[in-house]
Amino acid sequence: MELFATAEQMGHEQVVFFHHKESGLKAIVAIHNTVLGPALGGLRMWPYDSEDEALTDVLRLSRGMTYKAAVSGLNLGGGKSVIIGDPKKDKSEAFFRALGKFIDSLGGRYITAEDVNTTVNDMEYIFAETDNVVGVPEVHGGGGDPSPLTAYGTIRGIQACLNRKYGHTDLSKASYAVQGAGNVGIHIIRTLREAGAKVTVCDMNEQRLEECKEMGCEIVDLDAIYDVDCDVYVPCALGATVNDETIPRLKCDIVAGSANNQLAEERHGTELEKRGMIYAPDYAINAGGLMNVAIELQGYNKDRAFRQVKGIYDIIEQIFAIADRDGIPSWQAADRLAEERIAAMSSVKLPHVERRSKRASGRRPKA
Ligand code: NAD
Repeated sequence: MELFATAEQMGHEQVVFFHHKESGLKAIVAIHNTVLGPALGGLRMWPYDSEDEALTDVLRLSRGMTYKAAVSGLNLGGGKSVIIGDPKKDKSEAFFRALGKFIDSLGGRYITAEDVNTTVNDMEYIFAETDNVVGVPEVHGGGGDPSPLTAYGTIRGIQACLNRKYGHTDLSKASYAVQGAGNVGIHIIRTLREAGAKVTVCDMNEQRLEECKEMGCEIVDLDAIYDVDCDVYVPCALGATVNDETIPRLKCDIVAGSANNQLAEERHGTELEKRGMIYAPDYAINAGGLMNVAIELQGYNKDRAFRQVKGIYDIIEQIFAIADRDGIPSWQAADRLAEERIAAMSSVKLPHVERRSKRASGRRPKA
């Protein structure tokens, strides 16, 4: 990869390579944009086939975080880190503490968090070396499992979609097809059932399906979820489930769920709207987890987290307003909302790094 040419094209500020021979750590941190604040984004561990593959992934994911933080109204930029390695074999205390030291050397420009194949325990090792990590255990002032907050934000986003389509926000008046009753999905399903809505669910996890049956959900086979006659399709499992094969099968008015990267390609978001369906852009509707960890930076407070996540309703409405203003699909309007905020704030020059180092941390001092 021509790194500088790619960074210029994608807009990255900084890419840092870390190597720690003794523990075998090989990591890349990509800082995409810090106009709004320090770059926050998770740490992914993956047995990449090549260094180029790892680099491509970290550049793509860090850029995505800039948009997610910006659209969410957070004073944070976008960054991400990847470790090249096998999560089953290569982890050790020294490995993560070495990474913590490296992250600390970035002086607060990058803040890490959990992601695919990294855990709260790994974050605790990193926290031993740097304050620039969120998603730490609750005993250290962390916010704990973000899934309930992600689910709540998704519910708020669904309500904004209901209002756009039907002129009301009453969850009980619509029917739902939920794909995936995992950590996020199960909370969404519970909220919908408590409201009295008709909910159809698919998952391969029998225990979760039993829970759903007890709540009064209808269960369908994995592939049958796309054919369910419902008002809202709620993807909460895999990415890329909105694609050429599934769009003609969907019988819903709204696509709104927590899954990342729901559109196989951006054009599928346009295609949904051509068919009269509303799409809640994934990185905006599922930002509750990010908001939850971001609050750790000011001293974690659950009430404040819920209050902020409640605002996802307004964010989705803002996206729809931009879509109407500019005559563009919602996926594009979300990007525009993010870009407009970054452009507006780039002239304000928030003194974020200095302010953050003086933050009133709610965390306990390290042992
Ligand atoms: P999870 O792994 O707990 O749950 C996913 C569920 O989907 C599991 O129960 C799994 O059995 C099921 N599943 C897998 N393949 C399926 C298929 N083909 N059909 C139906 N079900 C299938 O994950 P999660 O934390 O609940 O996250 C769900 C989605 O939301 C993911 O895309 C994740 O990236 C995204 N997300 C999660 C958070 C969070 O706070 N956890 C935040 C933002 C985005």
